[in-house]
Amino acid sequence: MTRTYPDLEALVVCPKCDLLHEAETLPATAHARCARCGTVLFSSRPRAVVHVIALSLTATILMAVVIFTPFLQLQNGQFVSRASVFDTVTAFTEEIMLPLSFAVAVSVVVLPLTRFLALLYAFSPLLLNRAPWPYAKQSFAIAEWLRPWAMAEIFMVGVAVALVKLSSLATLSLGPAFWSFAAIVLVVALKETLMSRFALWALLDKVDT
Ligand SMILES: [Zn+2]
Repeated sequence: MTRTYPDLEALVVCPKCDLLHEAETLPATAHARCARCGTVLFSSRPRAVVHVIALSLTATILMAVVIFTPFLQLQNGQFVSRASVFDTVTAFTEEIMLPLSFAVAVSVVVLPLTRFLALLYAFSPLLLNRAPWPYAKQSFAIAEWLRPWAMAEIFMVGVAVALVKLSSLATLSLGPAFWSFAAIVLVVALKETLMSRFALWALLDKVDT
């Protein structure tokens, strides 16, 4: 006798009471609620897509501010120094440190930006009720795969430690890039919480076939 097992990808755990559900594709504008406590587990198209697009777009714009505006300014008497994020990550000029600078730049700016753009590419057409662009699924898969490697928050913790040390040496002012970066950390956290992965995959699957 053969037993059928539920598809692991389609299992959704209630974040509130831990009840396990087997997810199904929802009709448009519907919510799936926990059978026991009523917590919304995921919702269908409009909300899932609106969330992912709104947050990815916000994060992309903030990242542009991070790249093009000063991150912090140091003043000690006559001496004033402004630093961008790229100055910060390329501050290690000794040759032996170059791989580190490169790794920091990639994990702090390049990978998060790639993720935001990949999500925008995968889901923008769906927001306008159009068919997805080619390779939308691969694009979403790349965004998901990069998730553990985009480490903006960790950079922010490092910056905070450095700022505390620097503040005794010079007068410090934080530039727009600093605040944008802090905002990105929050937006990304919100995106990870709100992003309904099952609904988004189901959506691409549905439109694709
Ligand atoms: Zn529940």
